[in-house]
Amino acid sequence: MILLLLGPPGVGKGTQADLIAQHYALTTCSTGNMLREEISRNTELGAAVKQYLEKGVLVPDSQLFTLVEHFLAEHMNGGLLFDGFPRNVNQARVFETLLNNIDLKLDMAIDLHLSENDIVERLAHRRYCSKCGRTYNLITNPPKENELCDTCHIALMRRTDDTENVIRRRMEIYTQETYPLITYYTSQGKYHQISAQGTKQEIFARITNIINGNKA
Ligand SMILES: [Zn+2]
Repeated sequence: MILLLLGPPGVGKGTQADLIAQHYALTTCSTGNMLREEISRNTELGAAVKQYLEKGVLVPDSQLFTLVEHFLAEHMNGGLLFDGFPRNVNQARVFETLLNNIDLKLDMAIDLHLSENDIVERLAHRRYCSKCGRTYNLITNPPKENELCDTCHIALMRRTDDTENVIRRRMEIYTQETYPLITYYTSQGKYHQISAQGTKQEIFARITNIINGNKA
């Protein structure tokens, strides 16, 4: 089974990706994590990518395709979950070709959906620990003690880019970029939108219903 998980920042995609991967024994392909790993291992690709990031420009598609191609070559015999790639139609077309080349196909694109106001509301409650990096949400995933890290017992911080204006701008860019993807996967009969309202267990139950129904 090959799945793609879509959803704007703040929708709880990382949490659901972990739950899905664990439940269905899938290997996750997160291009963001893979790029960070290439950089920390100081590979040729990592060095190139680092330059783009330092200049504040997007990593070119060709570099992403190389990463994904290597990932597919290594993991083509098991179930896969793609998180954060492809994020536009051009990438989706190349992704399809890369899969076809090794006789694989994408089964479903699952889109976690939350209204913009709900995302702003949710991100307003997001906190992190500056010491260990653990993330919390005061509503959906609160620390044991009021605004203190469970492990480090120091005050939690709010990310500076979680202000309402920045969140709305990020959403706008995300929507512009990914809206055509929805059309693309809908026309292939692979698109499934899932409400990201509620607890992580409720959301995960909706996802497993869709996946299990699709497999049957
Ligand atoms: Zn901590």
